[in-house]
Amino acid sequence: MGDSVAWDVIVVGAGLGGLTAAQRLSQAGYQVLVLDKSRGVGGRMATRRVTWPQRADAPGSETVAVDHGCRFLPASTRLEEPGVAEGVLHPWNPAEFALTVDSQGRTQVVSTPSQGPYAVSPQGMSAVAKTLAAGLTLQRQSRVTQVWPQGDGWRVTWVNDAAGAEAGETAPLTTRALLLAIPAAQIVPLVTGATAHHAGLAPFLAAAEAVTFDPVMTVMAGYDGLTDPLTRLDRPQLDPTSPPGWMVWGQGHPNLRWLALDSSKRLQSPYPVVVAHSTATFAETHFDATDLASVGQTLLAQAALALDSRLAQPTWMQVHRWRYGFVKQAHPAPLLATAAAPTLAGCGDWCAGLSADDAIQSGEAAAHHLRHSLESQRPE
Ligand SMILES: Cc1cc2nc3c(=O)[nH]c(=O)nc-3n(C[C@H](O)[C@H](O)[C@H](O)COP(=O)(O)OP(=O)(O)OC[C@H]3O[C@@H](n4cnc5c(N)ncnc54)[C@H](O)[C@@H]3O)c2cc1C
Repeated sequence: MGDSVAWDVIVVGAGLGGLTAAQRLSQAGYQVLVLDKSRGVGGRMATRRVTWPQRADAPGSETVAVDHGCRFLPASTRLEEPGVAEGVLHPWNPAEFALTVDSQGRTQVVSTPSQGPYAVSPQGMSAVAKTLAAGLTLQRQSRVTQVWPQGDGWRVTWVNDAAGAEAGETAPLTTRALLLAIPAAQIVPLVTGATAHHAGLAPFLAAAEAVTFDPVMTVMAGYDGLTDPLTRLDRPQLDPTSPPGWMVWGQGHPNLRWLALDSSKRLQSPYPVVVAHSTATFAETHFDATDLASVGQTLLAQAALALDSRLAQPTWMQVHRWRYGFVKQAHPAPLLATAAAPTLAGCGDWCAGLSADDAIQSGEAAAHHLRHSLESQRPE
């Protein structure tokens, strides 16, 4: 191994998969660098801080946390293992409903058995990722553009997306092992250029290309002065140990995949915040729209029609687009790796799964694989 190799492992992507793997590898004594193109950590486990427009009755701005990505984890999440995210997760036990369409084509709301309690973070779900990131060497706003085989390891080119003097192209990084903990579709452009230079890369690329995702559009909406829970969805008996709330599954609804009273995950939530996720069909139709506000309003109008007319008149609204939202066609194994390139791996929810816990499990599997590959590289 040449002296220029600075890192044992570079992990691209600070989502749950990448952070889990990075923690496992650095706990095992490896020098690990995590790169993420975003300003925050957590990837699709994301929370937006929204400053509520000033109210006449309450001067001063108020910032609320809104989960616009991952909504909840199962109560039995792997993150509940001691020492992982202790104290961050709380139970959430909302009333559950589903949308059904009657014979006249009218949407009905029906109560469904609760699948809860779910595990949520009152500070916002991104707090879970921040806990997982603690102690790691992490470079944000660092977008990896290509990876190349170099000697026994890998060369990683990246761009600094931070505004200001440091922005732009940067010196490539070198590493003994490389983990691409990003959606498979985003792996493809990173490895395509190098496939002719390494026998393991062509099957790696083909496997990444076979994975597909559904897009989703998320609408976040706040309702000033609407202090009552949305009446038609109120629940008579609330568990006093968990905050109230409701969630509605779209089932076969053409536009709504899911919506819920996101503010009921917070410990203090004086005004309702609703989060609605679109179906893949809705997102495919509207993804490239220039007027996102009107797309958000269209989705809220659907929610208003199905649930409560007041949903169509929010005080504020924001829209987020997830191009790689939910896994549609997964890779059939817990990690992506090829025998010809043992120090390269891919991981994420798309490896034998579709959920946050699957991403964590895939990160664990990738860390185990790379440890084994690095140990086998050591001279006798
Ligand atoms: C709207 C929505 C709701 C969801 N709700 C739930 C739920 O309720 N429960 C559940 O279990 N799961 C849910 N999921 C799925 C869950 O969020 C994901 O399974 C999980 O967060 C995926 O983690 P990951 O590490 O695989 O990938 P990601 O979270 O996508 O992380 C990938 C990271 O890689 C970074 N990245 C990408 N390309 C590059 C590059 N070239 N250079 C540097 N960095 C890069 C990204 O910025 C990102 O931070 C939801 C997803 C969405 C979109």
